[in-house]
Amino acid sequence: MHNLQINAQRLWDSIMETAQIGGTAKGGVCRLTLTDLDRQVRDWFVAQCEEAGCTVTVDDMGNIFARRPGKDNSLPPIAMGSHLDTQPTGGKFDGILGVLSGLEVLRTLKDTGYETNAPIEVIDWTNEEGSRFAPAMLASGVFAGVFTRDYADSRKDREGKSFGEELDRIGYRGTEKAGDHKLGAFFELHIEQGPILEDEEKVIGVVTGVQGMRWYEVTVTGFESHAGTTPMHLRRDALVGASRMVEAINKVALDHPPLAVSTVGLMEVRPNSRNILPGEVFFTIDLRHPDDEVVVAMEAEVKAELDRIAGELKLEIKVEQVWDSPAVKFDQACVEAVRTAAAGNEYSHREIVSGAGHDAAYMARVVPTAMIFIPCEKGISHNEIEKAEYDHVAAGANVLLRAVLEYDNRGSEDRAA
Ligand SMILES: [Zn+2]
Repeated sequence: MHNLQINAQRLWDSIMETAQIGGTAKGGVCRLTLTDLDRQVRDWFVAQCEEAGCTVTVDDMGNIFARRPGKDNSLPPIAMGSHLDTQPTGGKFDGILGVLSGLEVLRTLKDTGYETNAPIEVIDWTNEEGSRFAPAMLASGVFAGVFTRDYADSRKDREGKSFGEELDRIGYRGTEKAGDHKLGAFFELHIEQGPILEDEEKVIGVVTGVQGMRWYEVTVTGFESHAGTTPMHLRRDALVGASRMVEAINKVALDHPPLAVSTVGLMEVRPNSRNILPGEVFFTIDLRHPDDEVVVAMEAEVKAELDRIAGELKLEIKVEQVWDSPAVKFDQACVEAVRTAAAGNEYSHREIVSGAGHDAAYMARVVPTAMIFIPCEKGISHNEIEKAEYDHVAAGANVLLRAVLEYDNRGSEDRAA
């Protein structure tokens, strides 16, 4: 088979060039969605895609699609992409790597005159970060039918400006309805944003899905009383109960090794006074696992433990589920194309499940989808010091290129058969 390789230096230079648009003193990027800086990087991206011989279209959520024709343009395009917006103190790679690697793949195909069967596209999804307009992955969510356009347009930033007004203002409201743009497959290259690949000295993560996630809010109620005059055996101390619950919630994840995680990250103690027994404690729970059935089992175990502890300490307890994000399993043929691409380039690799959300998680609902991870230093992301190695960036883009060509060839074999 072909042994095309991307131009690593050109890709790296493009990443460093876009990092100047909203670049921060600490070496990060602040380029919130639908700001003037976002318009500037979009203008740059569109110009580069056109220079690479692509036709650019924009949908009514501001998602940008740059297409390189194939031999058979009746086939739905094989797409790559991610996002060019960042957190307020974001890094140079989160999202940007996936978009610019897609651009680099298209540049490489142009340079070599390689003709694919299907058209190939690179996509910039609007407002992945959700930092300015919550929730995250808003425009890929509209594309996948998770949110409506009206809902997206109505989202407001902290100054009261709406997503819709700001999209119109920067001039990136296209005419095509989000979701109408036909795609044959979607591949997203991203930094891992976790420590696993670096820890195991692997270059490529073959991402098989995104883990399931549930959030709960818990209120434990006891009885406020004097810290000096209430004997121990007559106390109903909500914080003692909550403390045992935190330990129990931690153990539930430990009981489902190695992939389960559970976190109590927020707690409020009332009245929070040094000489009063806490009468009420509010805390949150975050449970995650790649398999929804395990998440369901963990939930049942957590609830049973909370009830047991509350009963022993004569406390009342209220548990409310506030978010349920089911696990995503990526398309087998797309995952296989990534695995073959990593092996074909002789990069060390392992299967991995994404702990964070990505545009690909929503795309997987409507299009065959997979992701590729590369390591980032110490797993740090959403931080100005976020860092990926030059060689890893090149490896990720080469796997992206090869996975797309694998998938494109597979399609033609299927049609021939
Ligand atoms: Zn991202």
